[in-house]
Amino acid sequence: MTAPETLYGKTPEELDALCRDAGMPRFAARQIARWLYVRHVEDPLRMTDIAAAHRQRLAERFAPALRAPEHASVSADGTKKYLFRTLQGNFIESAYIPDGERATLCVSSQAGCRMGCRFCATGRQGLQQSLSAAEILNQIVSLPERDRLTNLVFMGMGEPLDNTDNVLRALEIITSEWGFGWSPTRITLSTAGVVPQLRRFLDSSKVHLAVSLHNPFPDERAEIMPVEKAWPIARVVDILREYDFTHQRRVSFEYIVMSGLNDSPRHIRELSRLLNGIKCRINLIRFHRIPGSPYFSPDDDAMIRFRDALTARGIQTTIRASRGEDIQAACGLLSTRMKNEPA
Ligand code: SF4
Repeated sequence: MTAPETLYGKTPEELDALCRDAGMPRFAARQIARWLYVRHVEDPLRMTDIAAAHRQRLAERFAPALRAPEHASVSADGTKKYLFRTLQGNFIESAYIPDGERATLCVSSQAGCRMGCRFCATGRQGLQQSLSAAEILNQIVSLPERDRLTNLVFMGMGEPLDNTDNVLRALEIITSEWGFGWSPTRITLSTAGVVPQLRRFLDSSKVHLAVSLHNPFPDERAEIMPVEKAWPIARVVDILREYDFTHQRRVSFEYIVMSGLNDSPRHIRELSRLLNGIKCRINLIRFHRIPGSPYFSPDDDAMIRFRDALTARGIQTTIRASRGEDIQAACGLLSTRMKNEPA
């Protein structure tokens, strides 16, 4: 199924061209952008400062993009996992994670993923579709807790840099003053390291970067992340060395700790060598078993020992608190279930 064209998700330049082609005054583009991204009204018939005839034509031409989540699971710790249906009919997940004053939304960029990471339920689905900018933005705009959000992380389903055009378009709308007006310092994009798109992303956006590392040895990393064969982590790190992460923008490395697989002293030594000279942080994430996985979770002591050993080598290292375990908050589990048992 191909997605219908939507007004939501268009940039001011595209709205400008649209207005010109439709014989509308140029200032109408700004008016439409304001309705869409400041007031979150996408129905052209409700855009009362646009001429009635133009409103009607826009309503006939464009399909609505904003739709409420179809399912929500609430964890005992307050984390909520929402399931949205895309315009093409696939399921995607978004996790809302409240934490004191902070409330983070974990956003998906694709339905499924073709990167095939062995520890990831989404990877097992394969790629069903890359999300349009409207489908990415809908996860934010149609979230019941929209007005409480303080942070966004592009760490949900999919590899954002395998959908760079639409992710950059969504980021432009989120961070522009004519759009949602968010500071890029409240947004983090996570990538497995899509080398051909990395510079483009770093040059055209100011949001923080998180790189999925998970093992510093190429052969071992390739075992769990096939992406290593095409785009080695060493090349990713070389590119990162060209950029400044000492001021507004931060880079971090995500490291899922799998017991006995990537948590030995030699891994610590190699991590320290690989990341030498880059101002960064490592976020340790305890592996949570997914059905059929051969990997195991480390206990609390092992996590702390690993963190302390990295910190002793001068790498700022934190252990990320697990959230929403009771509602299958790990990316891809819920949508896999819904895919197999449609609601
Ligand atoms: S971990 Fe991320 S990049 Fe890897 S398969 Fe899962 S969604 Fe894709």
